[in-house]
Amino acid sequence: MQFDILTIFPKIIEDYAGESILKRGVAAGIIKIVAHDFRKFTTDKHHKVDDSPYGGGAGMVLKVDPIYNCLESLGLVKDGKKKKQAGTKIIIMDPAGKKFDQKKAKQFSKLKKLVVICGRYEGFDERVYKFVDEKISIGDYVLSGGELGAMVVTEATARLLPGVLGNEESLKEETFESKEKMGIAEYPHYTRPSGNHKKIYEWRIKKSR
Ligand code: SAM
Repeated sequence: MQFDILTIFPKIIEDYAGESILKRGVAAGIIKIVAHDFRKFTTDKHHKVDDSPYGGGAGMVLKVDPIYNCLESLGLVKDGKKKKQAGTKIIIMDPAGKKFDQKKAKQFSKLKKLVVICGRYEGFDERVYKFVDEKISIGDYVLSGGELGAMVVTEATARLLPGVLGNEESLKEETFESKEKMGIAEYPHYTRPSGNHKKIYEWRIKKSR
């Protein structure tokens, strides 16, 4: 599965994707994570990605053109329209969007490609939303940019893909899996159990309840 992340801070994405589980998933060829700096798609000499809001108001707004040009370079838009592509979804990080959860991560994990657009400043020129399938929020608070959210979505999705985690068994007992099956959260963990597996299992269920 490929994750294309549009941002003006590609290093944030590359650094996080270069460690731990995501790094392993990339090395194993199961996932590909590419950060696209949409500042490179500006056409003015100062490489400006933002502008003041039309009609006034506080802060700056991300312009539509650099984001459109970046999406065009990825073959996702053409002639001012979004191109339909099976297995591809374009999401935009937005605190007013749909709340991201494990169910969404599962849905995304069925895709071939997830494109994530990260905002900054006051957010996006409204015209950007025309090229997007879904607005996604990672929680009811406001961050300064979409990069952390993009990494939350990428990691939660990628770890559901077979082979990304070292031990697939750990997926089965995780909080949201056990909530789905038994309506309870995952049990507490300790190192060095006693070795009595039946007792451990009974204790875990009791603690989960
Ligand atoms: N003016 C916007 C508002 O009030 O909704 C907030 C903009 S925020 C400072 C800048 C960018 O950070 C957003 O465009 C979005 O991409 C990202 N962001 C901030 N909080 C987020 C959240 N909870 N979930 C997803 N993205 C978020």
